[in-house]
Amino acid sequence: MARRKKVYEGKAKILYEGPEPGTLVQYFKDDATAFNAQKKDIIDGKGVLNNRLSEFFMVGLGNIGVPTHFIKRLNMREQLIRACEIVPLEIIVRNVAAGTLSTRLGIEEGTPLPRPIIEFCYKDDKLGDPLVAEEHIIAFGWANQQDLDDIVALALRVNDFMSGCMMAVGIKLVDFKIEVGRIWDNDMHSLILADEISPDSCRLWDIETGKKLDKDVFRRDLGSLTDAYTEVARRLGVLPTNSGPVTRPTLIN
Ligand code: 5GP
Repeated sequence: MARRKKVYEGKAKILYEGPEPGTLVQYFKDDATAFNAQKKDIIDGKGVLNNRLSEFFMVGLGNIGVPTHFIKRLNMREQLIRACEIVPLEIIVRNVAAGTLSTRLGIEEGTPLPRPIIEFCYKDDKLGDPLVAEEHIIAFGWANQQDLDDIVALALRVNDFMSGCMMAVGIKLVDFKIEVGRIWDNDMHSLILADEISPDSCRLWDIETGKKLDKDVFRRDLGSLTDAYTEVARRLGVLPTNSGPVTRPTLIN
């Protein structure tokens, strides 16, 4: 069998050339990193869980008309996606103060925000993904004003959908990060949701207990990351509630 051509390798995923032009295969690794890769570990089963959870959210968002890169899941660790030109921004939506917002502005973690707040970071590991203003984005040509308007609308739709999904299973969606990409049709382009949506890129707190069910478990050494992600997957029905060992998840097809 011919070896697949690797197109890109990031901290948590690998992209391979897809079977058709305009497609890619996205492989979810078990690698966990935090603080711009200063903290690293291999978490058995994380890639499998994130593949399934990202599929769950992308399919749900597709069903309500949000364009996404997701085509289909191929196996436990891989999904077929549309190739797109990634906009070099991390788009963060916050409902509750936490993380860098709390540190930067001195707002206590857990304080509800008066409305969802959207922030943009420039995607550059060497610079530590710095927070940027719309002025920087437009001046440096990372996106134009129309793109930004579309990104804000898309991010708020993702927030509504994700908040609802989570609230239904007793989880508070504190914040999350998304990435978007451009699909070109001659000189015109449209934006689609890309990358992944998983507990790696969200803050998820149990509504009753406040227990963290996201990557902060790894960042802050709060216990087993696989247990936390398995809990999210079980509550959402992505994993059967009585499935076996969390390190080798039994998944519903
Ligand atoms: P903060 O700015 O507070 O560190 O992060 C805000 C939200 O965006 C959190 O849910 C966090 O997980 C997510 N986020 C921020 N930067 C990254 C990143 O580089 N990778 C991933 N996976 N998530 C990020």
